[in-house]
Amino acid sequence: MENTGAFSRLRDRLRDVHNLRMAAAVLNWDMEVCMPPKGAAARGGQLATLAALAHERFTHPETGTLIRQAQDNQDTLADDERAALREVDYDYRRAARIPENFVRRFAQTRSAAYHAWLDARKQSDFAVFQTHLQKLVTLARELADYLGYEDTPYNALLEDFERGMTTAQLRAVFDELAPRQRALIERIMNAPTQPDAAWLEQTWDADAQWAFTERVLRDMGYDFDAGRQDKSAHPFTTNFSIGDVRITTRLNERDLFSALFSSIHECGHALYEQGFPPEDEGTILAEAPSLGIHESQSRLWENIIGRSLPFWRHYMPVLREHFPGQLDNVDAEQVYAAANRVAPSLIRVEADECTYNLHIILRFELETALIEGNLAAADLPAAWNEKMAAWLGVAVPDDANGCLQDIHWSHGTFGYFPTYALGNLYAAQMFDAVTKAIPGIMSSVGRGEFTPLLAWLRENVHRVGRRKTTPEIVRDATGEEPAAAAFLKYLENKYAPLYGLAQVG
Ligand code: ZN
Repeated sequence: MENTGAFSRLRDRLRDVHNLRMAAAVLNWDMEVCMPPKGAAARGGQLATLAALAHERFTHPETGTLIRQAQDNQDTLADDERAALREVDYDYRRAARIPENFVRRFAQTRSAAYHAWLDARKQSDFAVFQTHLQKLVTLARELADYLGYEDTPYNALLEDFERGMTTAQLRAVFDELAPRQRALIERIMNAPTQPDAAWLEQTWDADAQWAFTERVLRDMGYDFDAGRQDKSAHPFTTNFSIGDVRITTRLNERDLFSALFSSIHECGHALYEQGFPPEDEGTILAEAPSLGIHESQSRLWENIIGRSLPFWRHYMPVLREHFPGQLDNVDAEQVYAAANRVAPSLIRVEADECTYNLHIILRFELETALIEGNLAAADLPAAWNEKMAAWLGVAVPDDANGCLQDIHWSHGTFGYFPTYALGNLYAAQMFDAVTKAIPGIMSSVGRGEFTPLLAWLRENVHRVGRRKTTPEIVRDATGEEPAAAAFLKYLENKYAPLYGLAQVG
């Protein structure tokens, strides 16, 4: 059968592409975790070569020919093979629309912009980055033209990170979310009770923190025979296969929570990657369909579970064992309250659950305005600062703590930010569905038993891989469209009692 032959030749070809990408991921992990500084220059070249080889092999016309031949005889394929073929075709078509010379121009502009951004941030001077940003916006619009879109070029860019979601849908969700979150923050700021966090001002031994994170990771179901935890400057998760999914964290002896919540967050990502069906190994089906759904897993574990009272009731004795004598006068309720302090602040990555999405919506509004031509790069700092003041009541002292704080735009990445907020929304929707399916779920958490939750996630999210798009997964798992209501209800139910607020709807 010639066409069955085409599919298996396509599969071999894609396996090479996959192996090249995974080899690059190992080099990248090494670079972040253990490479000595003098290795940097050569490593950049090694990564560039592998990326170029993978790109070349994937976008080669032969790949397109094999896809078409396999499609011509789809009825000889099993369901999973057809699903894989559909996904490969999708990726190939998108990649094939982008001309080679654009890829080169974009890479050069990004590289220059990234270095300008580093300088600009160091000097806290947006002017150093401004013309680079404007060039990247122009190129991003050109990219959108190649990819094709309806309504707004932002849709084409968003598609790369959150396929199946449109700008209009996002606007509707964010328009509901933003005023309600602002109102909640206002109530919290004026609340009669503010959590006592003075006890946190101690030195928390790094080795003890490390041991505690490992204990929690093991309990969550992270398979240390299929992964490991290391230290890095910026925590991340990476995978080389379903049997090798690694996470990193960073330790700070002045901060009891930083490493722990970062470990739990990355473990949420890692459980997803360890949870793909073994038979999907090395195929396109063993991938998440979007960044938002990936982030839903990390946020669910970090915030909904890790920052819950039952979690701390269970771990309080364990925490005391790890830090003998330091927590004698502190109880689970106090740890819970301290882990959920709300404080509007300048920096997105340090934001709490109540303010986080506002940082995202701000970026979403500004980047859509940039891409749609309604905001010039030159006017970005003023627009940023105005929104920070209006939404979070925070005065931005300088650009480094304002519009220069994130790396994304310096990489020419527009359409990525919304996925962080979507992760929060999906997580709340999923957890709602879990509590309906397993009413005793939080009692299990209170006993340190996470298996029922993990089993639900495995079944409804992890094992699906790319067989469905994210909106389909959310719909099938929760019976709802992606929406803001579940998250708003979750915030209200959690923070009203914490801050002694009269509860509303
Ligand atoms: Zn994450």
